[in-house]
Amino acid sequence: MTTLRLILGDQLNCQHSWYKQVRDDVIYVMMEVRQETDYVLHHAQKIIAIFAAMRDFAARLHAGGHKVHYFAIDDADNVQSVSGNLNQLISHYQARALQWQAPDEWRLDQQLQEYAASLTIATEMADTEHFYSARNEAATFFGQRSNWVMEHFYRHMRLRHRVMVSETGAPAGGRWNFDQDNRESWPGMPWEPNDARPRHDHSALWATIEASGARSFGQPQADNFRWPLNREEALVQLEAFIQHALPHFGRFQDAMSYKEWRLFHSLLSFAMNVKMLSPHTVIARVEQAWRDGLAPIAAAEGYIRQILGWREYVRGVYWHRMPGYVELNVFGHNTPLPWWFWNGETRMRCLSSAIGQSLEHAHSHHINRLMVIGNFALLAGVSPKELHQWYLGIYIDAFEWVELPNTLGMSQYADGGLLATKPYISSAAYIDRMSDYCKGCHYDKKQRVGERACPYNALYWDFLDRNRGRLENNHRMAMMYKQLQRISEEDLAAIRERAAHLRSNLNAA
Ligand code: FAD
Repeated sequence: MTTLRLILGDQLNCQHSWYKQVRDDVIYVMMEVRQETDYVLHHAQKIIAIFAAMRDFAARLHAGGHKVHYFAIDDADNVQSVSGNLNQLISHYQARALQWQAPDEWRLDQQLQEYAASLTIATEMADTEHFYSARNEAATFFGQRSNWVMEHFYRHMRLRHRVMVSETGAPAGGRWNFDQDNRESWPGMPWEPNDARPRHDHSALWATIEASGARSFGQPQADNFRWPLNREEALVQLEAFIQHALPHFGRFQDAMSYKEWRLFHSLLSFAMNVKMLSPHTVIARVEQAWRDGLAPIAAAEGYIRQILGWREYVRGVYWHRMPGYVELNVFGHNTPLPWWFWNGETRMRCLSSAIGQSLEHAHSHHINRLMVIGNFALLAGVSPKELHQWYLGIYIDAFEWVELPNTLGMSQYADGGLLATKPYISSAAYIDRMSDYCKGCHYDKKQRVGERACPYNALYWDFLDRNRGRLENNHRMAMMYKQLQRISEEDLAAIRERAAHLRSNLNAA
């Protein structure tokens, strides 16, 4: 009796219990399909990375004695859909059972559940054995609360998993959160560490992908491909991060620079999101580095919070709020995405830098995503759904369970504040404080109105003004509204006019 076990492209967990035993009656199924390349327009590096990592994973399974059936994107019998290919294999191998690991995207979860219900053979969904929490753990934790405060969930996770806590349950260093120590801009020193990621030549794979007709955007960098594609490479990347970047991660976590795109970030999100690297491994290594005196507590705690806190928490939001979450749009924003999101050609230096990095590397770090790109889109009234599709396509680490709550909830506040306690917005002042973008920009960071005034300024005050009804009573926004109060009616009228002009001419910015 043959059992088929489906492995999706983001389920490359070589430590999964499935692989502990080599079984003659099990065939592992992996497939490169247009269904997955085409559901949104993807960055070229994202398609290459997933296919190359899948091929590597399949080769290792095979070398380990497992049976593998792999559909390459250009195989003649590949019908380019998950269920279509499974139908063929069930019949070809006379399979008596189908097993799969729980998909992290609602779309695939639905598809596989519906597909399984249509089959007459035995079907079973296994856990991915990757996350700390179950899909519904955050929902159970928060119960009926209308605001899901991440910090509360994070503390629960620290205690539950005994991460940086004493035997009595006290947080290491006497505080749960060292964020106050982590807000510095980067003065150009210390140097950004060398990029320790591997180098691959995936020109042949890229040619095959292009020939398949799959559409993409961004720079493929196929002949000098830099993303870790298996667990060993990801562990090397983790160790390089621990040694050279973690010590500075906390201080410069929110800093931005047009000169350096990574600064002290780990670039491990792709490896973790396709599950070649376990969050448990990363967190244990970071905690150990702190215990060994390799990194200050603020850096280690800050980094661990991103993974044990934010990453698990947004996944809980996603599973609690899907499928309706993607449609939320409390501000009713519907401006189309400006065309320069696809090529970075704008005179706003911060945006051209953040989008340019994203097109070049399929990556940009958190503050660029949140306070440059997302901030602008929110102030300008861009449709959150269009923006979500852009984020989902461009970033190498973008899978809907993590991208959607970050984009729609954290960055666009389109869920009305389930996830973020206030909208993440700022004028040019914040961007200038945390980066070197404004020096040399076409626009003047100090001006609110006039042709050369930085667009963030008028858009920011206008956003606050337009949304008084929804936001004015939010105590976290009290300071912003106090400042708005100080602007004269005459100045506000000019700001409104400038903002309206910008919003209806976004493509020209
Ligand atoms: P580091 O800064 O080194 O952080 C370490 C790890 O913490 C990351 O690898 C990631 O696994 C985790 N992490 C950090 N912040 C978050 C967060 N807010 N939510 C979940 N995990 C987090 N992250 C994704 O993995 N995929 C996405 O599609 C994605 N889309 C985003 C969209 C927007 C609008 C915003 C504001 C953030 C998004 N993030 C996303 C979160 C974050 O920007 C990336 O995880 C991070 O930039 C990845 O780079 P890194 O590995 O160098 O991260």
